[in-house]
Amino acid sequence: MPVPILRLALPSPLRRLFDYRAPANTPLTALQPGVRVRVPFGRRQMIGVLVALAEHSDVPKEKLRDALELLDEASPIPPKLFEFCLWVANYYQHSQGDTLSWALPVLLRQGEPASTRQQHVWLLTKDGHPDDPRLERAPRQRQALKIIAQHPAGLPHQLIGKLQISKSSLDALQDKGLLRRETRRITATRHHGSWLLEAELPLNPQQQAAYEAVRAGQGRFHPCLLAGVTGSGKTEVYLQLIHRVLEAGKQALVLIPEINLGPQTLARFERRFNARIALLHSNLTDRERLDIWLAARDGEADIVIGTRSALFTPMKSLGLIIVDEEHDASYKQQDGLRYQARDLAVVRARQEELPVLLGSATPSLESLHNAHIGRYTLLKIGQRAGNAQPPKFLRLDVKSRPLDSGISRPLQQAIAQTLQAGQQVLVFLNRRGFAPVLLCHDCGWIGVCPRCDSRMTLHQRLHELRCHHCGHVERPPTNCPQCHQVDLRPIGAGTERAEARLARLFPEYPVLRIDRDSTARKGSMERLLITVKRGEPCILVGTQMLAKGHHFPRVTLVTILDADSGLFSADFRASERMAQLVVQVAGRAGRAEEPGKVIIQTHCAEHPLLVQLTEQGYFAFAEQALAERRATNLPPFSHLALLRAEAHKPGQAEAFLEQACLEAQQLCRLNASWGHIELLGPVPSPMERRAGRYRAQLLLQAQARAPLHRLLAAWLPQVEQLPGSRNVRWSLDVDPMDLY
Ligand code: ADP
Ligand code: ZN
Ligand code: ZN
Repeated sequence: MPVPILRLALPSPLRRLFDYRAPANTPLTALQPGVRVRVPFGRRQMIGVLVALAEHSDVPKEKLRDALELLDEASPIPPKLFEFCLWVANYYQHSQGDTLSWALPVLLRQGEPASTRQQHVWLLTKDGHPDDPRLERAPRQRQALKIIAQHPAGLPHQLIGKLQISKSSLDALQDKGLLRRETRRITATRHHGSWLLEAELPLNPQQQAAYEAVRAGQGRFHPCLLAGVTGSGKTEVYLQLIHRVLEAGKQALVLIPEINLGPQTLARFERRFNARIALLHSNLTDRERLDIWLAARDGEADIVIGTRSALFTPMKSLGLIIVDEEHDASYKQQDGLRYQARDLAVVRARQEELPVLLGSATPSLESLHNAHIGRYTLLKIGQRAGNAQPPKFLRLDVKSRPLDSGISRPLQQAIAQTLQAGQQVLVFLNRRGFAPVLLCHDCGWIGVCPRCDSRMTLHQRLHELRCHHCGHVERPPTNCPQCHQVDLRPIGAGTERAEARLARLFPEYPVLRIDRDSTARKGSMERLLITVKRGEPCILVGTQMLAKGHHFPRVTLVTILDADSGLFSADFRASERMAQLVVQVAGRAGRAEEPGKVIIQTHCAEHPLLVQLTEQGYFAFAEQALAERRATNLPPFSHLALLRAEAHKPGQAEAFLEQACLEAQQLCRLNASWGHIELLGPVPSPMERRAGRYRAQLLLQAQARAPLHRLLAAWLPQVEQLPGSRNVRWSLDVDPMDLY
């Protein structure tokens, strides 16, 4: 029998498989899709994943190489997840090898065994005693033995370093027969008995209806969109649904937008459940990440919580997927494999025949559209749980009113009143730093980034000009670099400036700034929030970080300093994002018994979208925004893919895209039956130069998904081969979130 050919996905951006001869004497039964194979690649070695077997290869015999070894007896990735990964690669036109690399924990990519976790522990032997006379001259060994003696169940090896026990001491003690090492399989066990640690709240009728609607779909594909205003008790519905999943002996996967919310979510789940709950967060070591992956795969974790990449966690018997705050932009990965985890959650649920619940107070227009056309079941919770009142909105027209660091006079008065009443104020401004522009009053010079087509933001406290696009940093000049005068003025306001001004205006109250700069250090967010939680009057100033997940029951006034940028942006999603932010920030207020007020400063108080949003709420806004999208034929009423390119020299990226465009035109001409696809561009990107590279883009738009994907599948292999591709960095973004 001829040796079979292994068709492998290797970690490479190339959209193809690589052929190798199976290692000699490999039984056919060992060659299951998904097993990892070590192979020679050039002068290096690589670890690939077996995708298929073939009898023949197009690679000439003399060039075909032997695979070195199989690393697994069976596929470490469950077959369904493996299939899912291949589907993802195909949908996003990403290489299978790279996609599998995304899906696999780092250690598995590096060849670590994919078997259940083991732990080494140190124990004293029968003869082991710290008073052993042989240790008289070895104080460090004696000290080590003393410490280990305090752990009669065994001291886990990973604590050795922390306890300042050296490897050489351990070796010496082992040689003397005083110490031994044991290898144990780690299994998380659950205390038997009820899954609940605390009582469930009785659901109100709307919660109950949502709960039952999701339950009705158990055991089959059943996508639901839970649109419930902030504080309406969505999380309570999740928890009760998960309870049923656990009772059925199954697992739940919960996606959250931001890892900052992880500890809070975890705490709430741990209060509720006697269950093995794993949180996938960015501070895990590779080992910890692999351990959670294996535990979930082997059914030793009941609930897995994590951000978008957690969607690729293998689960032995998944019963439900929940995507919280499904509208959040962080579900879209913006580099490498540009996937949208919320959309993929639905795909995974379809494949594994499960209910999937997307929840949000401000659902994305895509998901709402899917609900309208009957693809998702729409579940609404219109009122807040308990007695909490919805906030009242006020549009404050600031046309021709002086703004003092972005804050108008009437707003100052409202803030003063709230503080005097002993309540808290939240000031929202989605711009970090002191001022977005530094301007010379004498000659008009502006501080721009030397590497980007953008202005640099002044960070006064750090005494820096920073580019928020490429990270370039410089000292602000004392004299204008152009005219040498000294009248350099910060224009506009960011959170730092608003904070400074508010602190001057209200010296008797604490002003707390919460943004990426002020919370960069670990634990700083928690420290800042302690004051807020104490409930004394204070002012919170911050960016969208404040809009996510936190409960500020004592905040009764929310102010939005600038809603206008969301109304007049070139980005067609800007108004949707603005509306979501406004509603989410507003949702932080008055969550307990005190009703909240939301004041929005704007120069266009009569803008129809803003009027709709503030007077009739998010869903009325969304209907209007969807009608606009339909009229302009934008997603979700059409489908987009964006080919981006960047290069060191001007013109190179566009030239490459020009070639790519010609190929696409030709494919469309030859395959007219595919359906119509619009090719728009290539054009320079809205910010043409970024981080020293010149960027351009080509947009593809189609009425239906199928023609677009047929074209992409035929086109990308050609694009890869284009001569111009050597001087550019390029990428394809299917369903792009922004067109930059
Ligand atoms: P969401 O996830 O929609 O923001 P939560 O589930 O966090 O809402 O609920 C908001 C608050 O209301 C929480 O303090 C929660 O304990 C409370 N709550 C939720 N459901 C109920 C209910 N049925 N009865 C009373 N209080 C509830
Ligand atoms: Zn000047
Ligand atoms: Zn820059």
